[in-house]
Amino acid sequence: MGNGAAADQPRRRLPASLALRNWTLWRQRRSLVAYCLLVETTAVAATAVSVVTAPPGRRDFVVLGLLLALGVLQAELGRQVERMRRRVDGPPYINMTSVWTFAGVLLLPPVLVAVLVAGLYAHLAVRSWHRLRQVPPFRTILNGTLVVLTCYAAGFVLHRLGVPGMHAALTAGWRGVGAVALAAVTYFVVAAITIIPALTITTRSAKAFFGSLGDNLLEVATLCLGLLTALTLATLPALTVAIVPPLLVLHRAVLIKQLEIAATTDEKTGLFNTTGWHLLASRELARAQRNARSTFGVLMIDLDHFKLINDEHGHLAGDAVLRAVASTIKSAVRDYDSVGRFGGEEFVVLLPDIGPAAVLAVAERIRSAIETLKVEYADGIRTRVIGDLSASIGVATYPDGGTAVDRLLQAADRALYRAKHAGRNRVVDGTATA
Ligand code: GH3
Ligand code: MG
Ligand code: MG
Repeated sequence: MGNGAAADQPRRRLPASLALRNWTLWRQRRSLVAYCLLVETTAVAATAVSVVTAPPGRRDFVVLGLLLALGVLQAELGRQVERMRRRVDGPPYINMTSVWTFAGVLLLPPVLVAVLVAGLYAHLAVRSWHRLRQVPPFRTILNGTLVVLTCYAAGFVLHRLGVPGMHAALTAGWRGVGAVALAAVTYFVVAAITIIPALTITTRSAKAFFGSLGDNLLEVATLCLGLLTALTLATLPALTVAIVPPLLVLHRAVLIKQLEIAATTDEKTGLFNTTGWHLLASRELARAQRNARSTFGVLMIDLDHFKLINDEHGHLAGDAVLRAVASTIKSAVRDYDSVGRFGGEEFVVLLPDIGPAAVLAVAERIRSAIETLKVEYADGIRTRVIGDLSASIGVATYPDGGTAVDRLLQAADRALYRAKHAGRNRVVDGTATA
C-alpha cells in the first residue's frame, strides 16, 4: 500500500538543464572544457591539501564570519549604485569583492579563503539571480574558482617568503611589508592572467576585457583597501567597519566615470555622440592654436539615399548598416582619430596632426571602403546582404577651412552639400572656398 502511494507521487526531479549530460559546458570548445576542468581540479586538489597542512582554528572562523558580514553589508549598501552601473552598461567584472578576498588571503588559512569566496559569490548570485540566469552556470563557477586560485597564489607567495599572514607581517619589519606588497602584486597579476582564456568565451575585445587604466587603478585601490582591512582586523578589529564608507565612495566613483562615458557615447554605434566629439574637437583646436604650425582635418560623412535602405529593408536593417558603416570608418582611420555620429546617418571624423592633402586621402579611403561594404543582416527568416552603399564626404582643414570648430563644421557641411549636388558618392574639399 505504502509503495503504491509512493509510486503515485510524481518523482522529484532536477531540472533537465542540471543533469550532468545536459551541462552547457560540454557544448563548448574542447580547449575551453579542458581549461575549466583543469581549473576546477586544481582548486579542489589545492583545497584538499591545505585542509591537511593548514587546518583552521576557532579564531579563524570568527575572522571568516566578520569578513563575510562586511562583504555582504558592502554589497547590500552598494546595490543601488550597482543597479545604475548596469543600466549604463559599464565594463565587465568590476568587482570590489577583492577587498574581502584579499583581506582573507592575509588572515585566513586557504580552505576558509575558499569558503569566503564561495560565500560572497553565492550572496551576489542570489541577489542578482534574474541576471545571472542568462549566464551559463559553468562560467559563474569558473569565475569563482579563478578567484580562489588567485587567492591561493597570493597566499603561496606569502608562505614562500616566510610571512604566512598579516599577524606574522606585523612582527617581521620590512620583510613583512615586502611580503604583503608582493602578495598584492601576485593577486593583481594572477587575476589578470587567469582571465585570458576566458577571453575566448565572450566576444568582447581584449581592451574591453582588461579594462582601461582607470579600471586597473580601481583594482589596485581595492587591493589596498583589502590590505588595510586585514591590518585593522589584526590590530583593532572593531574599527574594521570603517573600511565600508570609503569603499562605497570608491564604488560611486566608478559609476561617475561610466556616466561620463555614457554621456559622450552614441548608443547605437559606440562612436562619440555630438557632445563627446565636440569636447575632443575643442581640445584639438586649443592644441593646434598653441602650436602655430599644427593642422588638423574634419570630415563630414552622410550616407547617400539612406532612406531607401530603410524603406526597402526596414529600420532594423538600417541600424545594422549604420553600425557597419561606423566600424568601417573607424578601421579606415588611425587610433587617435575621433569618429562621431551626429544622429541620423551623418558621421564626423576629427583627424589631428594632418595636412590638407592627407585629409583628402583619408576621406577618399573612407568613401571607397563604404562603397565596397557588404552588410549581412538576418531578418529572422533569412540572411540578406545589403550592398550598393555610398557616402558623400565634405572636408575642411584647420586653419585654412576655419579657425573655430563650428566654422570648420560649417565648411565641411557646405562641401558635403556640394558633393550631394554633384551626384553623390564623392569627396569635396570645403577648405578652399571657406
Ligand atoms: P541623401 O542624404 O543622399 O540626400 O539621402 P538620404 O535618404 O540619406 O536623406 P536624408 O539624409 O535626408 O535621410 C536620412 C534618413 O535616415 C531619414 C531617416 O529615415 C534615416 N535615419 C535617421 N536616423 C536613423 C537611425 O537611427 N536608424 C535608421 N535605421 N535610420 C535612420
Ligand atoms: Mg543621407
Ligand atoms: Mg542625412
